[in-house]
Amino acid sequence: MKRLYLIKIGEIALKGGNRNFFEKRLKKNIKFALRGIKCTVWGSRGRFFIEAPEESASRVEDVLGRTFGIKGYSKVQRLPKELEQITEEAVRMAKQNISDGRGLRFKIQTRRADKGFPMNSYEISCALGEAVLKEVKGTVVDLKNPDWTINVEMRETAYLYGRVEKGPGGLPVSCAGSGLLLLSGGIDSPVAGWLMAKRGLKLDAIYFHTYPYTSDEARQKVIDLAEILSKYTCGLNLHIVPFTDVQLAIKERGFEKATTLLMRYAMVKIADRIAKENNGLALVTGEALSQVASQTPESIRYTGSGTDLPIFRPLIGMDKEEIIRIAENIDTYRTSILPYEDCCTLFAPEHPITHPDFDRLTAEFSELGIEDMMDKAADETEKIYLNGADK
Ligand code: ATP
Ligand code: MG
Repeated sequence: MKRLYLIKIGEIALKGGNRNFFEKRLKKNIKFALRGIKCTVWGSRGRFFIEAPEESASRVEDVLGRTFGIKGYSKVQRLPKELEQITEEAVRMAKQNISDGRGLRFKIQTRRADKGFPMNSYEISCALGEAVLKEVKGTVVDLKNPDWTINVEMRETAYLYGRVEKGPGGLPVSCAGSGLLLLSGGIDSPVAGWLMAKRGLKLDAIYFHTYPYTSDEARQKVIDLAEILSKYTCGLNLHIVPFTDVQLAIKERGFEKATTLLMRYAMVKIADRIAKENNGLALVTGEALSQVASQTPESIRYTGSGTDLPIFRPLIGMDKEEIIRIAENIDTYRTSILPYEDCCTLFAPEHPITHPDFDRLTAEFSELGIEDMMDKAADETEKIYLNGADK
């Protein structure tokens, strides 16, 4: 048995001449996420359909619920454009809703794309509504506040569907090129990555690992977070940079109160190289203004100067509570709060500066003499492919 779904797209529908590009990308992303399942995806101009085997329904619904570009989706029945059959199905759906305890107030909503059909939308709705009222005891029409709606679309054939499940909205991943997410094991950066993927950015991620100061568990935690993110991003490549030597050199040679900033600058410089080697067009971080000493305007100006790529910081204006709410919704929160310390905490100075002098830190960094060490760390970066990302 096959199951058919109707997919409604969100912002893509507003695209003008480029719409085809966005729609093609959406289809490609859905197919990628459902690879291994025998399914067909078709449609355009705001309506997509996917047909897949009944037994894969839960995987299909999981994918539709997390694929960016999808505003909503519904299980749909396809019928010939004959009033009798459509009425029968509407009555069956109504009875099902009542036995599911979903209330008595209902609405029939009809759209008629095929103007050749002899009845107009209003007449179809009235005919079906009357049949439901007659056949299903106790039901009441309520156009303003229905407990449930039966939707009818008259196209090349008739489609009937009930509840519309929510998709994540946004734009299909990859339609904005790709970027590199600086992914730590914390709460913020996975959320930042998710938000940028929602705007169409394909993600790679980079993690700076300071073994043995940060443990294998901390590394595994980042891999687990990347794995969760990869389900939204059509796979993801995680770059793990062996950062211990760079970190120790900064700690030994750098101006103590600025160690976090110098270290973050080094991360941005290495990320810049890895991004460019992988066709990345931007970096992404989980920084939020004033959250910590390294996230003041002066600190952000300095640490961001390690790259000429744009740095996207989607959390910049968000409170921690708002960020946590998203982390819970996208299922990264419970992994993020596992206790393993990250290197920033371990190497953080007791009294970090919050208003660094840009020129002073820029000069200080070049005096550290760690360029070769940074190159070596970048050369020795390990790459992990998650959920079928490009090899
Ligand atoms: P997060 O919750 O994402 O760890 P945070 O609030 O703890 O963020 P910081 O530790 O100051 O903030 O880090 C700011 C940003 O720098 C992070 O959001 C992340 O993008 C990046 N970052 C920090 N440490 C690392 C690391 N070890 N590897 C990769 N990126 C990192
Ligand atoms: Mg952190």
